[in-house]
Amino acid sequence: MGDCVGGQRLRIASVLLPMPLPEAFDYAEPEDMALSVGDQVAVPLGPRLMRGVVSALREGAGGNRPLKPVHARLDDPPLPVSTLAFVEWAARYAADGPGQPLAIALRGLRAPPPRPERVLVVTGKAPARATPARTRVLEAAAREALAGPRLAEAAGVSSGVVKGLVEEGCLRIEERLAERPAPVLDLAPRMERLNAGQAAAAGALNASLDAGGFSATLLDGVTGSGKTEVYLEAAAHALAADPEAQVLILLPEIALTQAVIARVADRFGAPPGEWHSAVPPPRRRMLWEDVAEGRARIVVGARSALFLPFRKLALIVVDEEHDASYKQEEGFIYQGRDLAVARASLEGCAVVLASATPSLESLWNAEQGRYGWLKLGARHGTARLPDIALIDLRQTPPEKNHWLSPPLREAMAATLAAGEQVLLFLNRRGYAPVVLCRACGERLTAPDTDSWLVEHRYTGRLVCHLTGFSMPRPERCPHCGAKDSLVSIGPGVERVEEEARSLFPEATTAIFSSDTISGGQSARELVEAMERGEIDILVATQAAAKGHNFPGLTLVGVVDADLGLRGGDLRAGERTFQLLIQASGRAGRADRPGRALLQTWAPEHAVMRALAAADRDGFVEAEMELRRAASLPPYGRLAAVVLSGPDPGALEAFARQMASVAPNAEGVEIYGPADAPLGLIRGRRRKRFLVRADRRVDLSGYMAAWRARVKPPGPIRVGIDIDPYSFL
Ligand SMILES: [Zn+2]
Repeated sequence: MGDCVGGQRLRIASVLLPMPLPEAFDYAEPEDMALSVGDQVAVPLGPRLMRGVVSALREGAGGNRPLKPVHARLDDPPLPVSTLAFVEWAARYAADGPGQPLAIALRGLRAPPPRPERVLVVTGKAPARATPARTRVLEAAAREALAGPRLAEAAGVSSGVVKGLVEEGCLRIEERLAERPAPVLDLAPRMERLNAGQAAAAGALNASLDAGGFSATLLDGVTGSGKTEVYLEAAAHALAADPEAQVLILLPEIALTQAVIARVADRFGAPPGEWHSAVPPPRRRMLWEDVAEGRARIVVGARSALFLPFRKLALIVVDEEHDASYKQEEGFIYQGRDLAVARASLEGCAVVLASATPSLESLWNAEQGRYGWLKLGARHGTARLPDIALIDLRQTPPEKNHWLSPPLREAMAATLAAGEQVLLFLNRRGYAPVVLCRACGERLTAPDTDSWLVEHRYTGRLVCHLTGFSMPRPERCPHCGAKDSLVSIGPGVERVEEEARSLFPEATTAIFSSDTISGGQSARELVEAMERGEIDILVATQAAAKGHNFPGLTLVGVVDADLGLRGGDLRAGERTFQLLIQASGRAGRADRPGRALLQTWAPEHAVMRALAAADRDGFVEAEMELRRAASLPPYGRLAAVVLSGPDPGALEAFARQMASVAPNAEGVEIYGPADAPLGLIRGRRRKRFLVRADRRVDLSGYMAAWRARVKPPGPIRVGIDIDPYSFL
């Protein structure tokens, strides 16, 4: 029959390839290969062989044209079926093909497999002349197969003795993979080290774990309330309950991982697996294999660790769950926190979202009863939120071209006089955010991008923070050619540090920002110097707003508290509130009270009033009401479409075509196309649609259906962003 080739039915393997393709490709399974779903295979694609993953197997015929056969099954561990299901789910959610999330899942395999070690084993042949040295070598080799130099060391002989035994045939060289035993973890409960509030929270998490199945819990506690101890206790409970269980702890930034890794190592007596972009490829491959084979039981990582091939996830922790860095904005676009909840649901395991300032989405889910809600109060005597006061810049402005107002300067003077430390916080890198020509009035922008160039005095360059373009600060204006006409407008951290240094020349000042700490001095060194009290005034961007405890710090000055409110996007108020609470939470650790002074031009703004009153509930209530009135997340759903292309006319025409074929659906509104606020990036013009939908709408399905109705011409790209965080 037509179903038969050479008288036999075929087995057809659907193979997902880690590239931006809409679907899996079919290949014929060669006889005797006995493939399973999840197996990694090499398949021909055009003239090349590609790595892929078997996503389905079925009996059937290959259609009119014979299918190409699978070339080989690879030795790498198969992708667990649940990981494959997660990859496919993530693709559907993002209205994208599965190839891109699969590429993230296979990212650990870029380095070649570890090379086997050459070790020496005894052959049984006795040496012609048995000296004491030779006997010691053979005894040592019989105990353990070691590489030549290590064997010589173990036997206390020169390498010549070992070499002689190899030449005589008493020792033989064998290639072996170095063993990587699973670390032995100390999983004994440590509830006695927790205070009553922590113990109650850990007990509740343990009960969810014991109940089994999917559960989501918001662990909501002010800075310093000990959330980490609570979730580590739950992790110990999960790992002790099942010898195969695995735990994943996600962090928003690499800068935070070292501190958490140290605490995990301290709690469990062995370091966890570490996963982020700074881990070198060979170590990433080892961790990937260890996760797939169950040796890695605790992994601490950045958002992409969600795609690791866990065999048996019992618990996922999303620490600092409100942090916007969980949103991946390039390539495959996803929100790591939301995918963590999805993965936990697919795996049937527990997920804990931890934060001192939870996202409105998570608070809403907790209020609705979808998530459990555990609240941790401050630990008595060790953590207190500082007094927060507003400085009204309309009443007490700084001098012209200065940024520190008289009340802030007085508070700094008093703090320094008491031998205590000051943190000045400004979430703006560099020296000045805008460079302007006095002669012609031009603001300098990057040549191919609609973004102002930021002056960096440290490096003497003008930098585009969006694309990384940079150039030396020119002597002449690139527009009118006037000499020495460029002036710096507004402050960045470098400029505020300059002002602090001139105000308090006796004080030691330093800058904590991603530019300055990568320039040789590591973040760790700076943090330790601050902890030891060697820095009097630290000027910092948001890099320092998280995770560090400075015992001598009693004053936080927020230079421009309104900064985040000016962006005009959905989460501007929320983000400002979270950032300022975190920044002011740095002050007044241990037994010393702290205070935070916030410079603002808008003290009547709801965010500022809630901050001054340290009233999180009041802020959340006001913000939720705004969102509810506009049916915005979490009350509705948003998606964005970003179109880009080099030719403005072609882009405009395509955008109009796309608008005309948008599917009709109840509860969906489409705004646009409009020129994106960043209308030009790297020479490509950009246009945007914003889509708002009611919660009951399958927005991912809607966006996929819309995308399927258009075929963008060559250079035009269509990007879909479900739940956008950037509106630029
Ligand atoms: Zn000029």
